[in-house]
Amino acid sequence: SPARASARSTREWQAADAAHFLHPFTDHGALAKKGARIVTRAENIYIWDSEGHKILDAMSGLWCVNTGYGQQSLVDAAARQMQELPFYNAFFQTSTPPAIELAELLAQVSPPQFKHVFFTSSGSEGNDTVVRMVRRYWDLQGQPERHVIIGRRNGYHGSTMAGASLGGMSGMHAQGGLPIPGIVHIEQPHWYLHGRPAGQSRDEFGITAARWLEEAILAVGPSKVAAFIGEPVQGAGGVIVPPSTYWPEIQRICDKYGILLVSDEVICGFGRTGQWFGGETMGTRPDLMTFAKGVTSGYVPLGGVLVGERVANALIEAGTDFEHGFTYSGHPVACAVALANIRLIQRLNLVEHVRQDVGPYLAERFAELSAHPLVGETQTCGLMGAVQLVKDKASGAPFASELSVGMVCRGHCFGNGLIMRAVGDRMIIAPPLVISRGQIDELMQLIKRCLDLTL
Ligand code: PLP
Repeated sequence: SPARASARSTREWQAADAAHFLHPFTDHGALAKKGARIVTRAENIYIWDSEGHKILDAMSGLWCVNTGYGQQSLVDAAARQMQELPFYNAFFQTSTPPAIELAELLAQVSPPQFKHVFFTSSGSEGNDTVVRMVRRYWDLQGQPERHVIIGRRNGYHGSTMAGASLGGMSGMHAQGGLPIPGIVHIEQPHWYLHGRPAGQSRDEFGITAARWLEEAILAVGPSKVAAFIGEPVQGAGGVIVPPSTYWPEIQRICDKYGILLVSDEVICGFGRTGQWFGGETMGTRPDLMTFAKGVTSGYVPLGGVLVGERVANALIEAGTDFEHGFTYSGHPVACAVALANIRLIQRLNLVEHVRQDVGPYLAERFAELSAHPLVGETQTCGLMGAVQLVKDKASGAPFASELSVGMVCRGHCFGNGLIMRAVGDRMIIAPPLVISRGQIDELMQLIKRCLDLTL
């Protein structure tokens, strides 16, 4: 509340923050010296800090506030559910109306093979569930040796032991004994980094990159491979939009070897790419889809796994328990908010808004950035965008690794009323889906100003 936000000065908030709060993915000592930016309120696509600065949030919080800030119907849904039934679990043969209704609605908005859902509280827990479910599936098929799951370098699937293992973030693997056994990684489909230097067209490179999966399957032994997992568009890795040839070839390879395809829809789900799910944009038929973030627009934590018929039928017919679940699997308040959020996406036609209006407009405006002397390439997919910063436009030569130009640019964004994220020297955005054309113009002006300041 405004009263709480103004109860202390910014410096007091920062001192208490530094004294007690260990932030995720943070150099705690460095943050304590600098002081966190204290965010106190938000509306639509804007946030405000404790100093009163208005900031355009082009990252939707952390890729999650799809319907934007200040949606009263979500607040009302949470309050109503908290009064009526704040919690009951789904363990011992009980269920609750919001969880049932949400499961039903998710089956309606997802591709036809999905009739069932397993709820978690986060994307990481969703991907942990994937590991256990995929291995359970192959055990039930009488093929327990099929336990290897293939992910991608620089993919992001969360921060739990299994999520971080499926992901291919080297910094995460360097801490805590990761990855867990039975996880293999292939290279990412990053044309600018791998295809362009090799002189391949985007489409040729898409096929090359997908065949890395086949090479890995053959190296491991096809009878040992359980599943492949990937984000339709790698988000945290830098908004790497694969060539259009990539995913259909991945699907063909999965089909050829009978391995399960898992689409991590934690970022791409719920309209981000201009379809309900990113796999629909990319032309895949996944067996499992992990989701979180946009399902509630981040108003409360909720995640899960949509389970296709092939795996769901095996679990249902197993005749024994699936020994997995969380206290908050199907939390009634989280499910009530998700129901209100999905209905809001439907009422506002946000998926069509992204596909037909603001997605194409963002693509058009982003392409203009290619003329900037710092920009090597731009990519968009729906409402995700990336700007690759380079030292030498002609050759595509990157800046020296010790010089983080992305961080310099991010600093300028921070100081100029824009939240844009830096992944190395790739600047990325994923604004709320409610953004208008006029607000995209405002965003572009800010991005251009920050690129000029970075020059
Ligand atoms: N999968 C993807 C693709 C993500 O981007 C993220 C988070 O950014 C996760 C999984 C993990 O989700 P959570 O942070 O809710 O655990």
